[in-house]
Amino acid sequence: MAVYNFGSVNIDHVYTLPHLPAPGETLGATSHTVGLGGKGVNQSVAAAKAGSQVWHIGAIGVRDGWVRERMEGYGVDCTCLREVAGDTGHAMICVDAAGENSIVIAAGANVNQDRDFVLSAIGRAGAGDTLLLQNETDLQPDAAAAALAKGMRVIYSAAPFSVGAVRAVLPHVTMLVMNAVEAEQLCTATGMDLDRIPVPEVLVTLGAKGAMWRSNRTGEEIEVAAPRVTPVDTTAAGDTFIGYVAAGLDLGMPIRAAMEWAGRAAALKVTRHGTADAIPSAADVRDFRV
Ligand code: ADP
Repeated sequence: MAVYNFGSVNIDHVYTLPHLPAPGETLGATSHTVGLGGKGVNQSVAAAKAGSQVWHIGAIGVRDGWVRERMEGYGVDCTCLREVAGDTGHAMICVDAAGENSIVIAAGANVNQDRDFVLSAIGRAGAGDTLLLQNETDLQPDAAAAALAKGMRVIYSAAPFSVGAVRAVLPHVTMLVMNAVEAEQLCTATGMDLDRIPVPEVLVTLGAKGAMWRSNRTGEEIEVAAPRVTPVDTTAAGDTFIGYVAAGLDLGMPIRAAMEWAGRAAALKVTRHGTADAIPSAADVRDFRV
């Protein structure tokens, strides 16, 4: 089996500053680092580090070959990563002395994706493979519909949250994944409780409290507690969790076991600084003692 992730690729520029810049202010950064980011990349890296065969479907700017190399270094197959004339998506992350941040994202090659390319990449998958999606690309409804028609598992991480995007993708999804804030936003926007959302399965991550899963077909519910750790950086916790759940299901685990494994991986991640680099491997998760 394999996980196909049609997802965003960003170059993260992180600027450390004495304070966040005020309107009209020009401010010197005390440091600047450049790394790999984006929900799509993080989820692909998590699923690959978990041990699944992962194909990332998406696009980068032709000048950023290092991005492909870095992803391949983490075990992600980039055969379906298209190189386009424009810029790779990027994020400008300003962090002040207290750790507060403000973030600007430019979508770049993550939008205006080539429909034929995306659909032909999904065409390589087989029934029983998994398609992962998030909201940082366009064309999610087309990709999800093609995957569902093939008999794939379609896991949709509805982040960053947009009720319009959720409504368009949901008919083609087998499992909707949200954090607690996104779940609240969806319930408020639709006027529906989670058990009425028209999707077969819903998974809600609950930060330090763990996660809950519900089958809206059978009414079965599972709650899994998170291991107790001292967090130092919760960036990419959700992406780590989703990547590990996708990998766990892909590798044949029942949902409860996949959630417990993902919870251990995400808890270990929050004890480390960073995003893709800091996502733990399956061996790290196995050796993790809480
Ligand atoms: P997001 O990062 O998308 O906002 P959450 O905050 O719900 O999502 O975190 C995702 C998962 O990461 C949780 O379900 C949990 O397993 C794990 N996690 C997050 N914060 C902690 C924490 N403080 N301690 C242990 N696990 C955590």
